[in-house]
Amino acid sequence: LRRNPGEVEFHQAVREVLESIGPVLAKHPEYADQKIIERICEPERQIIFRVPWEDDNGEIHINRGFRVEFNSALGPYKGGLRFHPSVYLGIIKFLSFEQIFKNSLTGMPIGGGKGGSDFDPKGKSDREIMRFCQSFMTELYRHLGEYTDVPAGDIGVGQREIGYLFGQYKRITNRYESGVITGKGLSYGGAQVRTEATGYGCAFFVEEMLKARGTTFEGKRVVVSGAGNVAIYAIEKAQQLGAVVVACSDSTGYVVDEKGIDVELLKQVKLVERRRLNEYAERRGGAATFVPGRTVWEVPCEVAMPSATQNEITGKDAERMVRNGCIAVGEGANMPTTPEGIRVFQRAGVSFGPGKAANAGGVATSALEMQQNASRDRWTFEYSERRLREIMQDIHDRCLQTAEEYGMPGDYVAGANIDGFIRVADAMIALGLI
Ligand code: NDP
Repeated sequence: LRRNPGEVEFHQAVREVLESIGPVLAKHPEYADQKIIERICEPERQIIFRVPWEDDNGEIHINRGFRVEFNSALGPYKGGLRFHPSVYLGIIKFLSFEQIFKNSLTGMPIGGGKGGSDFDPKGKSDREIMRFCQSFMTELYRHLGEYTDVPAGDIGVGQREIGYLFGQYKRITNRYESGVITGKGLSYGGAQVRTEATGYGCAFFVEEMLKARGTTFEGKRVVVSGAGNVAIYAIEKAQQLGAVVVACSDSTGYVVDEKGIDVELLKQVKLVERRRLNEYAERRGGAATFVPGRTVWEVPCEVAMPSATQNEITGKDAERMVRNGCIAVGEGANMPTTPEGIRVFQRAGVSFGPGKAANAGGVATSALEMQQNASRDRWTFEYSERRLREIMQDIHDRCLQTAEEYGMPGDYVAGANIDGFIRVADAMIALGLI
């Protein structure tokens, strides 16, 4: 704590992992001898930089850019970029730390990193977004490379931003290095299913958790928070698997749509027109209601997929959700449930899939994009989706098996943390004291 003052989200993420791995340390004394815990909690490198840019009126703005290259024992640093006014070092470090274990869980050769800026993309023109992305990459490019560090999207960074970032990288370096960034558009090296992967993957993970409880998505009442990339495709896949998604949210409030969210309309409003959710309710002509400024977790559901941001489900929210009959939670977002919330769910016997495992489909499909870029290949949508589903099934099964092996049956949090940790720790020892 003294070493990283004020970085509350980072402390929370580290504490959660350390709380799970006691039994591993007891079994593997070499991890303590090699000071693996101390080493794994210290980023290999943190980069903080100035991002100056000019708005459409000629006014100059200065934002702060970050890239935390946390751990490269398993492969090049890999993790998204977040553009949101709440971004500061503590958020990027928590995301980057989580990313190490998530990437390890996928079984792919990728290390952990994350970056972003306190830039707020809301209300900015397309040109302003482009100028910001170009300025951001003008510093970041020197730290990136297919074998070094490979960013992707996150909150506020979608395909449009990835295009501008990649364009600037290509211009500065004079290299068409497709594998340097993922989440690219299909016309310039992107992969099928990458856009859908995090949300689809989360739905596949929940499907497996439900199967393990002897049930399915069929007819289940589902609530998803957020209305961005992850949320929209989580809704789409859950509905394809037979669920009725009755509510979703954005930073202004939530909509309830008892017949099931109209995903095409949601995409049009949020992704194409970049408007607020009240617009969705207005266009549904009475079928949906917009509730401003309140938490979506007051809407009763059997399955929840929090897919907006960190710490959005408190202990109180979790208690209400359990009372309302919630039996499974799959985290589409990173760390959306507070530690109290997780305890409430686990005590009540709710199947709780932590983000590290449940949203790993995004980065796994990014690794598939890197594979296609490296081999100059292009896979079909069907093949890529099948790969994603197998990866999510495998992550689910490994979490369960590991939890069982370490005496915590059904505890996906422990399973994910332990399985992710062991692979990284072993690689760090094998590579020597570096
Ligand atoms: P988007 O920017 O596409 O969407 C984020 C959504 O969450 C928006 O609807 C936004 O509302 C809402 N939101 C964001 N911040 C807040 C906040 N502070 N309070 C309330 N609502 C908020 O991001 P993504 O869908 O890409 O990311 C969502 C989550 O999933 C994040 O935790 C991210 O780290 C995680 N994730 C994303 C992956 C990816 O592949 N994109 C991969 C793995 C995890 P509004 O529309 O009003 O801005």
